[in-house]
Amino acid sequence: MTISLKVDRKQPSPDTISQAAEIIKSGGLVAFPTETVYGLGADALNPEAVAKIFKAKGRPSDNPLILHVMTLKQARNLVKVNSMAEKLAEKFWPGPLTLVLPAKDTVPSITRGGLETAAVRMPADRVALSLIEHSGTAIAAPSANISGRPSPTDADTVFSEMNGRIDMILDGGSVIVGIESTVIDITNPSRPLLLRPGGMPREEIESVIGVSLERPDSESKKRSPGTRYRHYAPNVAVKIWHKGETLPENSAYIGIDLPENLDREHSVLFDSEEDYARGLFSAMRKLESENVECINLQWPDDDKGICLGLRDRILRSSGEYV
Ligand code: AMP
Ligand code: MG
Repeated sequence: MTISLKVDRKQPSPDTISQAAEIIKSGGLVAFPTETVYGLGADALNPEAVAKIFKAKGRPSDNPLILHVMTLKQARNLVKVNSMAEKLAEKFWPGPLTLVLPAKDTVPSITRGGLETAAVRMPADRVALSLIEHSGTAIAAPSANISGRPSPTDADTVFSEMNGRIDMILDGGSVIVGIESTVIDITNPSRPLLLRPGGMPREEIESVIGVSLERPDSESKKRSPGTRYRHYAPNVAVKIWHKGETLPENSAYIGIDLPENLDREHSVLFDSEEDYARGLFSAMRKLESENVECINLQWPDDDKGICLGLRDRILRSSGEYV
């Protein structure tokens, strides 16, 4: 059985966090909230503990994990921090931006999926930061779902999928951003790559580094194996809906605008792109259980702000790749 403990996101009880940290220190698994989605954490520097993450999720072993840190100083023990990384961390950490940099020997090979680089991020969530602090180590944490499924944005969803597979869940309620961090590879600062659009808008990153982020070609995609796998997928087919189109028969809908033949019983509607991103994964999980033939997701017109990350999740859950 997995223990689930409530925790106040604004003021996490040190006692609760200590219990979770003891599990991390002894090589166990703890799911915890971050501002993006719920993470499934283990001591990033303990190869046996990290192996348990891959097993619990059914995650392919060549898909590397993000190491969560509480300071830039801690990141310096794990990766070779260049001046572009310093600038970005100064501006955007804590926050939904993950930096891929040359790994140091301190990071076990299993954590970085056998690559020469490692991914680091400082989350903007007191529960997450406090857990890292009490554990006294970097925490490797992918999303706390079975591999390929939509990411969990609340603790009940983590419990339904991970009960019996992990030691503890810290239940801090619903997350804020709802999709994962933006991942950029700045190993070569003269050619920074956008590996995964996400919570941190592309244009904000570009305005700080002063150059455009390139999308990886097929060669550099091999360097971020996570981008190769089908992801974020519910149990029913997903289709992309563009404004003005008619919905197929017996289908569900998630979006902002109202299709003419909308079936309200099987729809989840949002007021803004931010709300859509926050609620997308839980809406897919709700509608997949409603005996519909497919789920239609509205395609965002814009590609600024959260929309690029939202587009990426929509494409990937529909089985198409970016
Ligand atoms: P997840 O933890 O499932 O949200 O996925 C983390 C993402 O970061 C995946 O797309 C990984 O492929 C990517 N990632 C993690 N470490 C690295 C790395 N060293 N190089 C390139 N991509 C990475
Ligand atoms: Mg994931």
